[in-house]
Amino acid sequence: MNRGASKAPDLILTGFMGTGKTRVGRAVAQRLGRTFVDMDAEIEARAGKPIARIFAEDGEAAFRRMEAALCEELSHGGGHGNSHGSGYGRLIATGGGTLVDPGNRAQLMALGTVVCLTCQPDEILRRVTRPGRDDRPLLGVGDARAEIERLLAQRQEAYAAIPWQVDTTGRSVDDIAAEVAAFASVETLTVHMPGREYPVQVGSGLLPHLGGALRAVGLASGTKVAVVSNPVVEPLYGAQVEVALRAAGFEPVPCLVPDGEQHKTLDTVAGLYDQFLASRLDRSGLVLSLGGGVTGDIAGFAAATFMRGVAFAQVPTTLLSMVDASVGGKTGVDLPQGKNLVGAFKQPILVLVDPSVLATLPPEGIRSGMAEALKHCVLADPSLFAELESAPANLQHPLSAGQLARTIGVKLAVVEEDPLEQGRRAVLNLGHTVGHALERLSNYELRHGEAVAIGLVAAARLAVELGRADGGLPARIAALLAVWGLPTRCPAHDVEAIWAAMAHDKKRRGQSLRWVLPHDLGDVRIADDVPPETVKSVLRAMQ
Ligand code: NAD
Ligand code: MG
Repeated sequence: MNRGASKAPDLILTGFMGTGKTRVGRAVAQRLGRTFVDMDAEIEARAGKPIARIFAEDGEAAFRRMEAALCEELSHGGGHGNSHGSGYGRLIATGGGTLVDPGNRAQLMALGTVVCLTCQPDEILRRVTRPGRDDRPLLGVGDARAEIERLLAQRQEAYAAIPWQVDTTGRSVDDIAAEVAAFASVETLTVHMPGREYPVQVGSGLLPHLGGALRAVGLASGTKVAVVSNPVVEPLYGAQVEVALRAAGFEPVPCLVPDGEQHKTLDTVAGLYDQFLASRLDRSGLVLSLGGGVTGDIAGFAAATFMRGVAFAQVPTTLLSMVDASVGGKTGVDLPQGKNLVGAFKQPILVLVDPSVLATLPPEGIRSGMAEALKHCVLADPSLFAELESAPANLQHPLSAGQLARTIGVKLAVVEEDPLEQGRRAVLNLGHTVGHALERLSNYELRHGEAVAIGLVAAARLAVELGRADGGLPARIAALLAVWGLPTRCPAHDVEAIWAAMAHDKKRRGQSLRWVLPHDLGDVRIADDVPPETVKSVLRAMQ
């Protein structure tokens, strides 16, 4: 996993001439209190003459060389007058053609989030031919309007590789700057899987930009997109997704699956195949999941199997599916004999996480997802754990985009190491050995996240009992779970029954009973040597 620059990410503004990069860039920099780097102005300052004269006297090639050199410098945090070598966290406005060069593009995109300003050609023409403007060397001769069209067409592909596009036509600088500034908190995680990589985009308000994000991962304009949702989520976000897809030139087709885990079945998948066929989805199409973990698991499995596999993308709408189910590539359905017994690994081409959709998720859904998020903190992010300890629980906005990205990053790091779940990935089952058993014994009245919360405390207490963790760890974990309204005591089932439920689960899968034990926050180990008596005494003590 790669989180781009190690310091605060830059925000990079690009786009065709006349789209307002400089003016908007300055306004955004002011809004965010950032250093503003205007690449064209920097090059002019260095050359000691305006760009038009660089073009006229030295030629376009010379200008492009200066531009590439500046990109190189910027990528190391330097390249502007007042940086003192610290760099980063900047607002950079590129020249209109800077990102056409793939090398420049790779360098700048690695620094942070790139936003592309767009504008209708007529308005571009008006803006660049305003009286007093003679600084547009590429429009020097001939029919300016035709030249704009020609250059736009030439650069279309380069601009389409940028996921975030903001139309500036007919808008004020302030208005545009407000929209652009919101991209400063977008986090892009790149997932590296065998044979491919894909982005996980995390940011509040990203849903309307779904189409651009799909174009940027290479989905061709005109592609048919089967939007798989359910009767709860579709009325909330279906229309927004449809508009976003159409705006980017895709052809959305709504497909519905019934709501609820009880419908995570082969029958429901067969129902989806029918809908795909009725809408003439073929192998060039895309299946997009819009919903929680249940929708994602079903849609992903359908995408993996329909016509031997069509492309798949995820827009998770529950906290659990954001931090857990939508990343990692596992898809599948339940059988009457048990959960998730049929499935496939299917990597998406894009995961788009917009936490603003959590506003409609009921509090118990937030709590349940927080259990998995906190599990990830225990696994590998002690500093986020500490950050959450010092803040009150907010069930409307449980995690910022940055915090969400960190919890997702924990899972991605584990998954990248073990994409097909052959070893290390087992640590993701932290809290689930006891959790699954309690879930089943309660006949699923206990929610998954609640069961995992109890399981997390049990695992920590086991680690202490075995002399592998500090005595204070279980109380620390329990305290944070309690802040989020999650249970930390074991329900009053017979301990032998809990033991039997755990053993049964494993036997059915042909595995021995393995434990995942936190030796400390961020230090989690797999253990096969836990004596049954120790487990039972810990569970008893937790009742
Ligand atoms: P879910 O998908 O059933 O969603 C919970 C409820 O919230 C549903 O009623 C849903 O319609 C509703 N909902 C979804 N988004 C909403 C929104 N924004 N506003 C209002 N309501 C909304 O359940 P879940 O907890 O998201 O996922 C659980 C499933 O995920 C399980 O089937 C589990 O096996 C699976 N899972 C898969 C993986 C994996 O790696 N594939 C990992 C963990 C869990
Ligand atoms: Mg889980």
